[in-house]
Order: sequence, then structure tokens, then C-alpha cells
Amino acid sequence: MRKLASIRKISDIKPIPNADAIEVAVVDGWNVVIRKGEYKPGDMAVYCEIDSFIPETLAPFLSKGGGAKEYEGIVGNRLRTVKLRGQVSQGLLLPLSVLDGVVESRLMEGLDVTLPLGIVKYEPPIPACLAGEVEGMFPGFISKTDQERVQNIADRKDLLVGNWEVTMKLDGSSMTLFTVEGGVGVCSRNLWLKDNEANDGNTLVQFARSVEYDKLLPEVAGRIGSDFALQGEIMGPGVQKNREKFSKHHFFVFDIYNIAESRYLTPDERKDVLAEIREFTPLIEHVPIVYDELFITEEDATIENFLTIADRPSINHKIAEGVVFKDNHDGDHSFKVISNKFLLKEE
Ligand code: AMP
Ligand code: MN
Repeated sequence: MRKLASIRKISDIKPIPNADAIEVAVVDGWNVVIRKGEYKPGDMAVYCEIDSFIPETLAPFLSKGGGAKEYEGIVGNRLRTVKLRGQVSQGLLLPLSVLDGVVESRLMEGLDVTLPLGIVKYEPPIPACLAGEVEGMFPGFISKTDQERVQNIADRKDLLVGNWEVTMKLDGSSMTLFTVEGGVGVCSRNLWLKDNEANDGNTLVQFARSVEYDKLLPEVAGRIGSDFALQGEIMGPGVQKNREKFSKHHFFVFDIYNIAESRYLTPDERKDVLAEIREFTPLIEHVPIVYDELFITEEDATIENFLTIADRPSINHKIAEGVVFKDNHDGDHSFKVISNKFLLKEE
């Protein structure tokens, strides 16, 4: 699980023009608006990332105005990206004292305190057309898709420099289709779905059947000599807000996982396998590519640069969710950059 709340060092404090009461604290690649004088450079604090759902008891001041909400039985507030006096603010800083009596271990930088503080990740509700009877949890023999946000690896130049494939980050719902030993399965982000009558109305099951995945996937596995999983974004009516205004469902593949070797294919390998698949059906598409190869040097590897790359139109909308960087030489190495315009205006 991702570290939503952890102990971090404040690297810098910056003023906000024309604001007397507030200033900006810098934590890795994140900017957080704080009350003036609350922290100084070098201080340690608990940093909670955006999309954390924070119990009201931990930060009652977040409930001011709108009032608290309830999520998974917890009364609290979701951390969103906000703009204060023209300054983007992402996340929340809490003093280390919130850990008193809660965490026994030594308060070291990097310590994950998500669980003891009762913080959970806010996930939007699953619409009825994506829910259904489940076979079980997401299978353990396939890797779940998730990338680190660039702001969390801002000082890890070694993870940012390189030769990258940059693809568009689409705002749909994650779907995985896999084949193992001639059998097949269809999964949502977290669950393995049943392909049965009860799920006739499930969009993912419907799509899988429409491409005859039970024949297609084993056939392709035979050709490439390995069981595999296709991972992509299902987009269209009923999925998220269908910001791209698709009239039918599209499946945009962004990763292919080699199950036998427990690794993601490299971008080149992925494109080759997808070309094979597209000989059978045009309905399975590759996610839009922004750059096949983008070389990032140490000087290029600033958060500002990455955010500029993420700030672009998507397929049918003027604001894309962002972009995902994948290492052209190592399929397991990736990170995501979410556009601040998207976070401020579209969410
Ligand atoms: P998030 O939506 O912030 O949870 O980010 C991770 C998810 O982004 C993955 O699980 C995918 O469903 C989705 N995604 C959309 N476009 C892409 C892409 N081009 N590459 C990888 N993941 C993507
Ligand atoms: Mn998403």
C-alpha cells in the first residue's frame, strides 16, 4: 500500500506574494500552504498526501465551512488540491505531536504512519455497471497497476533521469484481462470478476466477451509463448464522468504483464504484442503515446518540467489527467505526473 501519511522533512519555506498570514512549506516535490511561522526549514512533520481521507479528530479545522463527510465508516475529510492566494497547495502537514501515544517506534524520517492515524485512501464509489459478483481478490500472480507520483521521488534523480516512453494518463477505470494455462479472467482494479449471467450487465465482462477474450488471449499466448495479462483503461458511458464523451466503450492498453517471468514487458515488447492482438480485433487499442522516447537529463528532472509535460489536452478534452512515464529499458520502472489543472478544475 502507498504511504499516504509519513514523517517527512520540510526542505524549504517560501513566501506567498501579497499574503501575510500564510506561506508555503516544501516537502519533497509537494507545496503545502501553512500558517506563517508554523514550521521552519529542516523541521520534521507528518505529511499527508492528497486523496488521504483524514479522520475529523485528527484535523478538526478541515471540517470548517462544508462540514465533515463519512467514508468507509470514518467521519472526516478528503484532502484535495486547492489554490490559496494563487498558490497551489497539496496535502496536509501535522505536527509530530499527533503521534504521541499512537506510535511507539522511533520517529524516523520516512516512517509510514497511515494506519496508526486511521487514514485511508479516498477512492471514488464504483458505479453499478462496474460492480458485480466476484471470483476473488485481484490475482496475486499479476502485478497491480500503480505508479508513484513524481512529487514523492523529487530528490531521487536516479529514478527520474533516463529514456522514457510518455503515455497519456486516461481517467477511466482500470481493467485487466489475463490468460493462464488456456483459461481466462477479467478483473477490475481490485477484484477478479465472475464471467457469469449475474454479471451480464457489467461493463468489463461485456467488453471482454465482445472481443472473445476466451479465444483471443490463449491464441496470442501460444504465439508469444507465455501467459500474460493486458492492463488498460476502460473508458466510455457510465465510467467516471466519461469526460472524453465516448459513445461506446474503449479499452486502452497501457501495460502487458508476462506472468511466467513476473515482469512487465518493455514499451517495445508491449507494442509488438499489441500489434498481434490487433490482427484479431480493432477494439483493443494502445493508450495514446505522447513521446515514444523522451530523454530526461539531471537538469531536466525538475517537478516544474514534469508538470509542464503533464499539462496537455487529452483525446477529446482540453485538460488531460496527466501522463505516465515508463522506462524504455525496464517495464517495471514507472511514475506518474498528474496535471495540477486537472486536480484543480476537473476533480
Ligand atoms: P490513479 O488513477 O491515480 O490511481 O493511477 C493509477 C491508475 O492510472 C492505473 O491503475 C491505471 O488504471 C490508470 N492509468 C491511466 N492511464 C494510464 C497509463 N497511460 N499508464 C498507466 N496507468 C494508467
Ligand atoms: Mn484513475
